[in-house]
Amino acid sequence: MNETRMDTNKQMEQKKVVYSAVQPTGMLTIGNFCGAIKNWVALQGQYECYYSVADLHSLTLCMNGADLRAYTMNVYAMLLACGIDCDQSTFFLQSHIHEHTELAWVLNCYAQYGEARRMTQFKDKSARHADNVNVGLFAYPILQAADILLYGADFVPVGKDQKQHIEFAKVIAERFNHRFSPTFVVPSVLIPKTSGKINSLTNPEQKMSKSDPNVNSYILMTDDKDTVVRKIKRAVTDSEGRISLDGGVGIQNLIHICASFLDTDPQSVVKQYGDATYESFKASVAEIVASKLSGIQDNYARLTKDKTYLQSCMQKSNQRAKYLAQKTMQKVYRKIGLVPIEKP
Ligand code: AMP
Repeated sequence: MNETRMDTNKQMEQKKVVYSAVQPTGMLTIGNFCGAIKNWVALQGQYECYYSVADLHSLTLCMNGADLRAYTMNVYAMLLACGIDCDQSTFFLQSHIHEHTELAWVLNCYAQYGEARRMTQFKDKSARHADNVNVGLFAYPILQAADILLYGADFVPVGKDQKQHIEFAKVIAERFNHRFSPTFVVPSVLIPKTSGKINSLTNPEQKMSKSDPNVNSYILMTDDKDTVVRKIKRAVTDSEGRISLDGGVGIQNLIHICASFLDTDPQSVVKQYGDATYESFKASVAEIVASKLSGIQDNYARLTKDKTYLQSCMQKSNQRAKYLAQKTMQKVYRKIGLVPIEKP
């Protein structure tokens, strides 16, 4: 076989790369699950997937050390419980791969102040935490760009709220490639069509978030059946009483949650429950959500006890992540002109 044919075959065999991460700022919500995690699980096998628990990103919230450690391990176990497979995917803690912060520093110098200042998440978080507008919060999307570009990700599966950050990562990658020579893969965002933004149950105009002070606004992946039933029963809906996609935002949100948990589209949910009252629809949605969560929670209970297994997943993944991360950094440092140390 000639060399060109071999190269082409190799390229065809190479899977496209996927990268995504979740912050351990608390236990995951069903918003994280429907908007991101379900997609992560589905992409395994078909793509070469790199997933991480973004503990360094969580530092922007200035959390207590013991909480951060506990949340990090719990979120890691929860993702495995949801179906992330550390034999199929490379699944690691962001802080274990030092190259994330190294690349972030380099990329800081190729990202503009004005671009970072325009990020809506920065504006929202600064407004919500006016007493702690730290530089990390401002530079957050640049660390995120480093996460993605380090592994040459073609696709980044995230919820809608992250779209602007991924667009920013693309801009940085293109600028660097143009300034030097093609170095980074320019990533594309992957957002689920209908569950890219799951909203708060108490204020359905807003995104469901694990940092919301109102515990009734979200459903945690660890909530038991009674809690799920109670929270969904109380979910804010309008007074129209129609299960319809052109109804109020509250009922649309419940339709989207239901569709995502049933792995179907919202139209099918409307078809199935169109004649139901809000009360009985809410009871059905609660049943569907609680029953899916119960299977995941059984896995989670088993995994959190198995520290040896969690460590072995991290170790395997670390080797794979580190290999690629180091390769990227060598290339980057060479291009920007840092002098390597000679072997003695
Ligand atoms: P975070 O919790 O901010 O680290 O987000 C982890 C992933 O979950 C990201 O891809 C987010 O876009 C996604 N996500 C977070 N909250 C929601 C939500 N309410 N609806 C859909 N996706 C979400």
